[in-house]
Order: sequence, then structure tokens, then C-alpha cells
Amino acid sequence: MTIPNDTAAAGAPVRVRFAPSPTGNLHIGGARTAIYNWAFARRNGGSFILRIEDTDPERSTPENTAQIIRSLRWLGLEWDEGPEVGGAYGPYLQTERFGTYREALERLRQRDAVYPCFCTPETLAAKREAALAAKSYAGYDRNCRTIPADEAQARIDAGEPHTWRLKVPLERGDVVFDDLVFGTTTFPATQLDDFILVRTDGTPTYNYVVCVDDALMGITHVIRGDDHLSNTPKQILVYEALGAPLPQFAHLSMILGADGKRLSKRHGATSVEAYRDEGYFPEALLNYLALLGWSLDGETTLFGADVLTGNFSLSRISRNPAIFDEAKLAWVNASYLKEMGAAAFVDALLPYLKREGLTREGSAATPASPEEVAADVAANRPWYEALYPLIAERAKTLAEVLPMLAYLFAGDELVLDEKSVEKCLRVEGADEALARTQNALADERLPWETEAIEAALRSIPTELGIKPKLVFQAVRVAICGNMVSPPLFESLELIGRTRTLARVERALALLS
Ligand code: GLU
Repeated sequence: MTIPNDTAAAGAPVRVRFAPSPTGNLHIGGARTAIYNWAFARRNGGSFILRIEDTDPERSTPENTAQIIRSLRWLGLEWDEGPEVGGAYGPYLQTERFGTYREALERLRQRDAVYPCFCTPETLAAKREAALAAKSYAGYDRNCRTIPADEAQARIDAGEPHTWRLKVPLERGDVVFDDLVFGTTTFPATQLDDFILVRTDGTPTYNYVVCVDDALMGITHVIRGDDHLSNTPKQILVYEALGAPLPQFAHLSMILGADGKRLSKRHGATSVEAYRDEGYFPEALLNYLALLGWSLDGETTLFGADVLTGNFSLSRISRNPAIFDEAKLAWVNASYLKEMGAAAFVDALLPYLKREGLTREGSAATPASPEEVAADVAANRPWYEALYPLIAERAKTLAEVLPMLAYLFAGDELVLDEKSVEKCLRVEGADEALARTQNALADERLPWETEAIEAALRSIPTELGIKPKLVFQAVRVAICGNMVSPPLFESLELIGRTRTLARVERALALLS
């Protein structure tokens, strides 16, 4: 075991870690912690390490680990050391490091920094209750601390159940540290307990293993949620007991929901993959999460990963809790959609088309296979790219796109929205408007292009002496199925002459 000795970590190359417990999905708060660690490492030319803290056997699962890894990769957060990539300080799963924790306990025993505790859970509970009743509870009463070493060893050898506790130096005084976000933070000596490092069953506790690993992995900065702030004094005592240099600490304020309560499942989607499934871009989620507690210059809201990694600094992190604003995230995502361009849009839409089995000439009733969809997109790329201007200013997420464009993929099975039919088709003049439209569009000399189609239809309201809105809403409902579809003439060009005429015909039949 080579733990670097009491030399300050300052000046050493930056090494930071994201250390999730795989007890659930990677959620918004965890993702933000990962992003800040990653950005800090990149900004400083340091290393970003992923360590899986899977020591809780009841709540940790390999599925959760896999899901966390997937989410991090999706966000574009590549780690320099950790699961799947390896590294000189592995293994990076805590369940594979139990031998290391046993060695560290040996080291602590040699340094006379720990002692075995034989108190039973019942005794401890009874003492705690009595002390609480007397309003004097200040942790474990250090009963076993004074058992002579040879007697303790004899009891261990006889198989008596025991935990291992940290021998907090009684002359230690307050624990004071300079948090890089919260500033000077003090925990009074009276609160320092001889807490347990190793349980009766031999399993190590979080506050113990986190220090062993951070020390052995040469972590220089611990950047994590402020729910761990109260663990920090305990951990400082463990570093001191190990004779390891202290990392610097930076605690991040919680993320709150719009109601001011800590963000949780009650607030709706909170996992990274839920946002992926709702059609958010990883770049947009990364951008928005970076803003939850950090700012580039107090003004700029849209920036790419390169700007983040080029400018990130802990000094710009706010102590105030950040409010998660779903509408702002949607706005950021919409901004990316607006900027991405047609080619990238088609690439991003492809998985959605595959999932629905949609093709240009296909029918909504019989979905195409993913291979057929891919082949269709490749063969008709300009047509698919022409969808982009229809939704670029309208959709906020990719998941919204296909429902908005359903009429382009409905083949001959377009379903007309009942309300729209009542309001726009079953009205006086609609049948005449449709008949004229049919005439104009059936003329083979008319080039099937947006401008020509528009010019051909623009004259109809004047000819009939009715309002343009009435004419075009009737045409829109007949061809797009409802009143709120994207731009009409562009849509007609994309639907094609034959299919457009068939839809006008059907609407006329409906009215007669
Ligand atoms: N495994 C801990 C958690 O998921 C994080 C520990 C740390 O960052 O120190 O909350």
C-alpha cells in the first residue's frame, strides 16, 4: 500500500473523480456533478476518473452501473480512468477493492489509529437512548477504546464479533477546512465521534473507503454534492489517520425543483435517459446542466462543450441552490434544434423514424423495418432534409417532430381531426374551395414546387370572393388532417401531387 505521505497535493496535476453509487439511474444532480468534475479536469489538463461505489449490496446493481456508464457516454463525458477504460489505479469498482480496504485497515492498526469495538448493537442502542433522554448524546462513549491491546486481540482471536472504529485524537480540536465553494467551514471537536470504519461482517463503510480510494488514486479535488458536506470532517480524520494528504473540497449546492423542494421523482423526469428518450440532445442537456450553479459570464446561456471545458472554474460556482427549470431546458434544446441544420437533423431523426417504421412512401398502418427505413432515408435524403425547415422553429425536442409531421407519413390513411373537420370543412364555401384547388393542382403543366403551388392557390379566394383563411384552412385540414400543421405549400410539395389530389378527393367525398 503506497499512500503518498503528508505532502500537500497542491501543485500536483489535477485528478478528480465522479463516484456514483449504482443504486439507481444517473439523474440530473449526479450528471451535473459529473459534468463539473469532467470540465474541471479538462480545463486544467488533468484526469477525470470514474469510480463506481457499489459497496451497498442490497441497492447496487450491475444494471444501474451499466445505465450510469451509458448516460455518461451519451452526454459525451469520456473518463480517462475507470470501468471499461482501465487505468493505473484500478480496479475502479469498489466491490473489487476489498483487499485494498483490508490492507488499509492493517496500516491504520499499525499507526494505532483504530481499535476494535465489541459493543453489541443492543448495548449501543440502550446507551444512545439513555443519553438522548438526558439530552447529552454526543456519539459513541468510547467504551472499547481503553481495552488493552492484548485483551482485544485475545477477544478477536476467540471470534468475538467486533467493528473497527477510528481513534479520533482527543486533542484534535475543531475540524476546519476551506471549501472551494462554501469557504471556511468548521465542525466543532465536540461533534467528532469514534465512528465505525469496518462493520461486524467485515464490510467497510462509505466514509472509510471513499478516503482510502481518493488517497490511493491521488485525487486532488473532491467535487460533489453538498449532501456530503457533513461527511467531510469525518473523512478529513480518516485522511489524517492514514497519513495521506488532504484533497481540496468543493461542495455543490442542491438542485431544487420549481417549488423550492429538493429535485426528486415527484418533479417528473429526473434521469438522464428519460431526457434522452424525450428527444433532448446531449449537447443541450450538458449545456443546461452546466448552468445549474455555474455561469460563464453571467449572461451567455448557449455554449458548446469546448467553451465549457475551456472556461470552467470552481470560483464561478454559486453557493445558492440552483432551480431546475424545465421550460428553460426545453428552450435550450429548441435553440440547438434551430441551429443544427438539415443534415444533422436527419441523422438525429433516423432513430425515431426507425422506431416508428416510417418511410416516405410507406403507409402508417404497416411499419417498415429499421433496415428499410435506413435505406429509404439514404435514397431520399433531400426529401428528408426538406422536413427540417418545417419544424426547425416549431419543435422543442426531437420527440415532438414526428407527431407534428405525421401527415407526411400517413400514406393513404390520413385521419382527419374531427374538430378541424367541423370548423374548417363543414362550412359554407369549403367544398367549392376544395373543388377549385383540385382543378388547379391537377393541371399537369403546374410544376410541383412550393412557389408554383402557392401561386396557383393564391388566386382562389379572390375568384370565389371568400376569405383566404377559409380556403387555406379547408385545404390544410383536407391534406394535413388538422388546423395547426406546419407551412402548407411546402407540405404539399413534400406530399406529392398524386397523394395531395387523393386527399382532396377524399375530403370532397366526405362533404358530399
Ligand atoms: N458515492 C457517493 C454518492 O453517490 C459519492 C461519494 C463522493 O463523491 O464522495 O453519493
